[in-house]
Amino acid sequence: MIKFLESFFPKNESLDQQYFIEALSLIIDGDLSGAEAKLIRTVSLNSKRIEAYLRLGDIFRDRKQTAKAIKIHRELTLRHNLDPQIRGRVYRSLFLDYLQEKNFNQIELILQHLKKIRKDDLGIYEKLIRFYEEEKLWEKAFEALSKVLSLSSNEKLKPVLALYSVEMGKQYLGKREDAKAIKLFKEAIELDSLCSPAYIMLGDCSLLENKDEDALEIWQAFIQLKPEQAHLVYDRLEKMFYEKGSYSDMEYLYRSVLDKFPFQEQTLMRWVDLLLKKGDTDKAIEKCQLLLDHSPDSVFARSYLIKILLEQGRTKETLKLLRDSVDRFIKKRNFECRSCHYHSAEPLWHCPQCLSWNSFNL
Ligand SMILES: [Zn+2]
Repeated sequence: MIKFLESFFPKNESLDQQYFIEALSLIIDGDLSGAEAKLIRTVSLNSKRIEAYLRLGDIFRDRKQTAKAIKIHRELTLRHNLDPQIRGRVYRSLFLDYLQEKNFNQIELILQHLKKIRKDDLGIYEKLIRFYEEEKLWEKAFEALSKVLSLSSNEKLKPVLALYSVEMGKQYLGKREDAKAIKLFKEAIELDSLCSPAYIMLGDCSLLENKDEDALEIWQAFIQLKPEQAHLVYDRLEKMFYEKGSYSDMEYLYRSVLDKFPFQEQTLMRWVDLLLKKGDTDKAIEKCQLLLDHSPDSVFARSYLIKILLEQGRTKETLKLLRDSVDRFIKKRNFECRSCHYHSAEPLWHCPQCLSWNSFNL
């Protein structure tokens, strides 16, 4: 490896040059303490070897000795006549130091030095965004991701931007600054017309203002746009409709979703609920059977069917179905993150475990 690296440098190099090359080689081999020793020798022979200081600081950061890393990198920024490219690298290193230290003020200051984001800054920005997300600094995350978007024009980032807006909106809602929250939820929909939580929250805002009709309109629009996630607003809609005693409106809604997705489990089961409320047991059984024929593993269909048959005293059929179901090993159904398999009883758009966005099977 040393031979390979030497080929990049002129022959007859000085001793400090030689130590530096050896240090680089040790870094590549993953021997950080060996590299540290060589780098210290390098700078003790030649204090103008900025690259050696830079790497030394990086090694300290990798070892979580952040204060030491900052001290070295900070001192480098004070040097005069630094090559602009090297200066940029020093600030990038310092930036990563402060990120590790979670020193928000310093991060902001250095960002001003790195104002013009370049392609090779994308890695730094990814780390920065992750930091903002951890700290729930959604406005900052939004700003940083917008910059990345302007550079990479990756359209897949837009829905994430929309979700940041939703998070900002929720924070404002928590402070009862409803107008700001509503504005942000609307902006989220402009960024991503299919941003489910924005519709859900916007409807909730209307309810808070006692504008039930507006909430209804928003959620119905959402169901038309995204029928496969209609169940996310069913609880809210059922509450509204049932309070008014208007079961037929809800039934109409279920039918409209099932027209597009005939076997959508959540909708079918809600409808079964409603049929049972109305005492239409035969039709309820028929719907369960329909779903079961289509998806034999449906825990919902099995559970409902068992419940109905049991209540009707149809013991023999119940036992047969139970035996069959146990054989299929019923496991609890909830929302699961596709990235890390985190389970949640609530629908989530941001995984608390692996921090992925839009990773849940909703
Ligand atoms: Zn996850």
